[in-house]
Amino acid sequence: MDARGGPVTNVMTVDVEDYFHVSVFDGVIPRSDWERLESRVCANTSRMLDIFAEYGVRSTFFVLGWVAERFPELVKRIAAAGHEVASHGYGHRLVYDQTPAAFRDDVRRAKALLEDASGARVHGYRAPSYSIVPRSLWALDVLIEEGYTYDSSIFPIRHDRYGIPVSGRHAYVLERPGGRMIEAPASTITLGGMNLPVAGGGYFRLLPYEWTEWGIARVNAAESKPAIFYLHPWEIDPEQPRLPCGLLSRIRHYRNLDQTESRLRRLLADFSWGPMRAVLPSFEPDRVAAGADAALPYVW
Ligand SMILES: [Zn+2]
Repeated sequence: MDARGGPVTNVMTVDVEDYFHVSVFDGVIPRSDWERLESRVCANTSRMLDIFAEYGVRSTFFVLGWVAERFPELVKRIAAAGHEVASHGYGHRLVYDQTPAAFRDDVRRAKALLEDASGARVHGYRAPSYSIVPRSLWALDVLIEEGYTYDSSIFPIRHDRYGIPVSGRHAYVLERPGGRMIEAPASTITLGGMNLPVAGGGYFRLLPYEWTEWGIARVNAAESKPAIFYLHPWEIDPEQPRLPCGLLSRIRHYRNLDQTESRLRRLLADFSWGPMRAVLPSFEPDRVAAGADAALPYVW
């Protein structure tokens, strides 16, 4: 329930990329191989669009510029179905592995491709593997300068590759030298003083469905806040070609792929969902009044 006693609208998001773009394959699959690998992103995203239509759910799709460049029709179809098109950057390079200049080129190129294909302004950005961390916070200034108004890249958890555990758990306004923007992090719950992820990706596939269900219900009921959930098209594709990787990556990437679609259907039926624009106070951070939600948890 929200503060007015109605059901909370949660945010459904999809990071649109192919199975070989995933960061665990960096260094295993050379980028020069991307062109010759079998692409499955259009078929998998189309299946997701059909599922969302079946449940009457609109979502935010963070589309990789590399995908938009090759398959502009896919971006058009996403926009035509009433979903929000946002940016996952161009080349799926981790933010903290790029120079600010290279990052600027990447997010500018992606935004232009996505706006051309969708015919609508792109407001949001989500970094590959949530790679905005303490040493890459400069990226937020670049995003503001490039015309993005919200970011969804700072995961408030402890993880081996990403996360800022002390950052805000719900959407808030970020004050940066470059200006203001909204940060809309993927959802967590606090348990024993730790933030634990409850809303998407590997956590959704590897843990029982009830973990996600309980976590989102808790965010909605105890905190009267929307949950922000994320998923990838390759996660509903158990037939995808297997790529070589280590044991831990194999578990993270391949386990329970055959169960994701039925879990997604349960999730769509169990909760109320919308795109980012339905939930964020405004796409224009300058118009957001400072208040309890405008926390600035940064201590660096
Ligand atoms: Zn990604």
